[in-house]
Amino acid sequence: MASTPLHVLLFPFMAKGHTIPILDLARLLLRRNATVTLFTTPANRQYVSASLSDTPTTIITLPFPDNIPGIPSGVESVDKLPSSSLFYSFVSSTKLMKSHFEQAIQALETPVTFMVTDGFFGWTLDSANIFNIPRLVYYGMSNFAITMFRVISLNPHLFDGKTDTDLVTVPEFPWMTATRLECDDATDRDSPLFKWRMEQVVATIKSYGLVTNSFFELEPVYAEYWNSNSAPKSWSVGPLCLAQERIKKESLSDQKPSWMVWLDKKLLELGVPVLYVAFGSQADICINQIEEIKLGLERSEVNFLWVVRRSEESFGPDDGFEERVKEKGIVVREWVDQREILEHESVKGFVSHCGWNSVLESICAGVPILAWPLAAEQPLNAKFVVEEMKIGMRVETCDGSVKGFVKWEGLKKNVKELMEGVKGKEVRKKVKEISDAAVEAVKEGGSSWRTLNELIVELQTKS
Ligand code: UDP
Ligand code: UDP
Repeated sequence: MASTPLHVLLFPFMAKGHTIPILDLARLLLRRNATVTLFTTPANRQYVSASLSDTPTTIITLPFPDNIPGIPSGVESVDKLPSSSLFYSFVSSTKLMKSHFEQAIQALETPVTFMVTDGFFGWTLDSANIFNIPRLVYYGMSNFAITMFRVISLNPHLFDGKTDTDLVTVPEFPWMTATRLECDDATDRDSPLFKWRMEQVVATIKSYGLVTNSFFELEPVYAEYWNSNSAPKSWSVGPLCLAQERIKKESLSDQKPSWMVWLDKKLLELGVPVLYVAFGSQADICINQIEEIKLGLERSEVNFLWVVRRSEESFGPDDGFEERVKEKGIVVREWVDQREILEHESVKGFVSHCGWNSVLESICAGVPILAWPLAAEQPLNAKFVVEEMKIGMRVETCDGSVKGFVKWEGLKKNVKELMEGVKGKEVRKKVKEISDAAVEAVKEGGSSWRTLNELIVELQTKS
């Protein structure tokens, strides 16, 4: 059957963790000779177009809704929200872009093969149907996490009468237990986000399928679940971060960011191992917790590179911490190239909030994780990292719960174990094996490479 030219529309949600992998997906599609049209908003255009500047991607800017209560004008990304409590207002107002999105599709000159839109943009399904374009949903989560959320939404009474930490056996997966605390507000039917989430789930179920940033070998059971159930199919085409061709940076130190020069220096100090500490693009960590992290890192005496986001005031007053630790550790307040850091030979461990991109980037770099989940599906990712993949350890919380407060004593012990202990050695070995499998999956002929081809062929012959 003759196939039609491939034209894909991409529409990522306005958060770095959602946008970065979609930019990588654009790169993969361009390598399949696709025409790619990517939708964004005015404030995010600069970032998107700089990132794709070496590609022929068409970028369409849609006006972002104005006058959303609490959201300052010009803020078009959740990373820039003054408070995470504004998330719901932000995300629910994106549907005000619908008519602009549809006008833009109407004006396109090339027929569209399919669209990949964010799982938070359930409203794009209606637009897709109007134009008879298959919609694929991008969640930015593992097959494991989307499976857990699906099973929980199909069993709304699962957590009735349970406390936050009571263990519940997950239906269909008898070896798996979960707690309410691990499942975010997916279990709280009274929360304002719940209804909105259900709308997204319904739109997903009615969509053509899912494009997932994972690879089959990583989670065969959960990938199979989507392919064998009456659920939309999940095409695992990742790790998407491997789509970027890593250009070996010039070794001249004046062209490198200061923290990369610092990592080079650590390598020259007879390969001193460095712990990388970072909690993603959105985390809000309270000042008391920051103080414990400072103490834990300082007293563990490991070498560390700590990237802090958000403003300096949340890092507390200048208490001489950075001066005291300067031989061993640095604090970076800028946007870093996280993959470049993880891939540096000096980096041997990662204290991570377990955002799914961070987990995949750590796997690809062969770096084991000290899992410290904070919000959203991160507790599920942490569970997967520690219990299923066995490529990391859990941070010790005071109350033993997944989102509990961490005291410096526990952090110090965990960090030393990860960097110097027997357990650290074990998880480091395991992550290297999975890292090799990830590289194989995206290579020509590998599972993710084949899956993307299958998706393209299926939709091209349909259109
Ligand atoms: N920016 C963005 N999305 C937004 C707001 C800003 O990508 O919703 C970009 C903006 O184009 C600029 C950068 O982020 O390149 C810095 O923006 P701003 O000065 O508002 O933030 P700050 O650097 O103070 O965090
Ligand atoms: N990231 C980065 N530099 C930073 C902070 C974050 O490159 O200074 C990237 C990181 O590599 C990852 C993404 O931002 O690709 C964050 O996504 P993740 O899913 O780990 O966490 P989120 O920010 O969504 O909580």
